Amino acid sequence: MSTAQHFQGQTALPPSRPTDTRYDPQYDPLVMPTPGAGRDYAPTYWVASAGEPPPDDGPVLRDMDVDVVVIGGGSTGMSTALYLAQDHGIGAVVLEANQTAWGCSSRSGGQGQNASGRLTRSQWIERWGLDTAKKLDTEIRTGFENFRALTQEIDCNAFDGGHLYVAHRASKVAYLQEQTRVRRDIFGYGTRMMSAEELRENYCDERDAHAAMWEPEGVGVHPLKFTFGLMQKARALGAKVHTASPVQGWQTINGVHHLQTPGGVVRAKRVVVCTGGYTGQRMTPILKNKLLPILSNSVVTRPLTDAELNATNFKSQTFLTDTRTLRFYYRLLPDNRLQLGSRSAISGADAERPVHLKLLTDAIARKFPPLAGIQIDYSWWGWVDVSHDMMPRLTRPDPTQTVWHALGYGGNGVSFSTWAGKRIAQRVAGKDQGQAVFQLPIYSSPLEYPNFFKLFRSEALAPFRRLGQHFLYKWYWMQDEL
Ligand SMILES: Cc1cc2nc3c(=O)[nH]c(=O)nc-3n(C[C@H](O)[C@H](O)[C@H](O)COP(=O)(O)OP(=O)(O)OC[C@H]3O[C@@H](n4cnc5c(N)ncnc54)[C@H](O)[C@@H]3O)c2cc1C
Repeated sequence: MSTAQHFQGQTALPPSRPTDTRYDPQYDPLVMPTPGAGRDYAPTYWVASAGEPPPDDGPVLRDMDVDVVVIGGGSTGMSTALYLAQDHGIGAVVLEANQTAWGCSSRSGGQGQNASGRLTRSQWIERWGLDTAKKLDTEIRTGFENFRALTQEIDCNAFDGGHLYVAHRASKVAYLQEQTRVRRDIFGYGTRMMSAEELRENYCDERDAHAAMWEPEGVGVHPLKFTFGLMQKARALGAKVHTASPVQGWQTINGVHHLQTPGGVVRAKRVVVCTGGYTGQRMTPILKNKLLPILSNSVVTRPLTDAELNATNFKSQTFLTDTRTLRFYYRLLPDNRLQLGSRSAISGADAERPVHLKLLTDAIARKFPPLAGIQIDYSWWGWVDVSHDMMPRLTRPDPTQTVWHALGYGGNGVSFSTWAGKRIAQRVAGKDQGQAVFQLPIYSSPLEYPNFFKLFRSEALAPFRRLGQHFLYKWYWMQDEL
């Protein structure tokens, strides 16, 4: 009679009740099956400054039958629940392993860019041709404007000041000039170049800078307050958000998904996976070896004194990134602290090593010498989800299964995750048929493992993935700094 597809190999993981709810700094998605159950937030500045989390629906406490489950309670999952309710009248159930926005959405730089993933618009043209690049631009721009509007509705300390892309060496100025030309002449943006002197005079005295590209599209937010706001909107429209409810096992029986959580089995007709870089390798075979989780480290200093603000000439909260391959992202926060982050650590076990913190404090000293040695009040890290081409995929990977995913932002999802929620909700509701926008590569081609790492895709070679990443980082560092 019934055909049972047993995910996670042949055996579901045994359900486990939350026993240890302490924050685990060494959590590693390549090693552990789930990010825990009801664990504390990472010790981020955002958690310390967001206030009490708004009410959620608590853990799953019994078996239940529902229509749509969203796995993962970050900004992607909450937006998906919001738009399922708002646009399609579907009250979804969000299952979050730990707390609302526990993953990247409470750890990011909060830099909301007019982007989805890491590829530049010139790279879109190279890969997919001008026609597709223009359509993709229309789509991403629409998504950014939707995000911008949401940041006005939600109390999230939004600063709509654009984005400064800083040439960290003279040889990068020509690259930024070309990026500016493409954005202005081909896509019609008001992007412009600015000299190092203008940057230092009007924004901040960034000593690494040789010039900068300024784009008016960029909104810095308090990412945790923003995601709390998305959750409140979604719940007000009928969504349920169950925290401390990790999906620990998944079977599909007669087309119904049986999702095992510590408090009960949630049976769902449709499932949307929004677990980002926290996607466990064993959650579903559909996603095994499809994403590379990569660590991003971040620090926030104590508030700058008036003397330090004068010495660094900070006049704006506009956010900045630089042209390094392992780029730094940084900005002045509303209470005059400096946030700065980059990529350095490779495994969870490695993340606490002082060398990774030093990379960030050295960067502060180089970019803003008057701040050398400044006290660091917050230091944390989180896992971003990287796909083969650094662009997200919002698809239904197997047409025989009622499972969708919105994953693979490559660490650039603060803004796009909200639009991802809108589009994936449309797909789950069956409203994507015959719509040309869903022919775009991010909606029509599969999520794949990054090319370099495909070499190490087999289980036997898995330990060498991290070694490969280590050598790649060394190579990037030599290119960026020597
Ligand atoms: C340090 C850092 C800095 C960043 N800076 C920026 C930036 O400045 N700009 C930008 O655009 N992007 C940035 N990002 C990326 C950005 O934060 C994310 O792309 C964005 O928040 C969207 O996240 P998400 O909702 O897809 O995933 P997440 O917020 O990571 O949410 C995924 C959730 O899934 C849950 N989960 C996982 N497995 C299970 C399971 N089995 N059952 C139930 N729940 C599960 C996790 O607990 C987690 O809460 C940064 C990320 C990091 C880590």
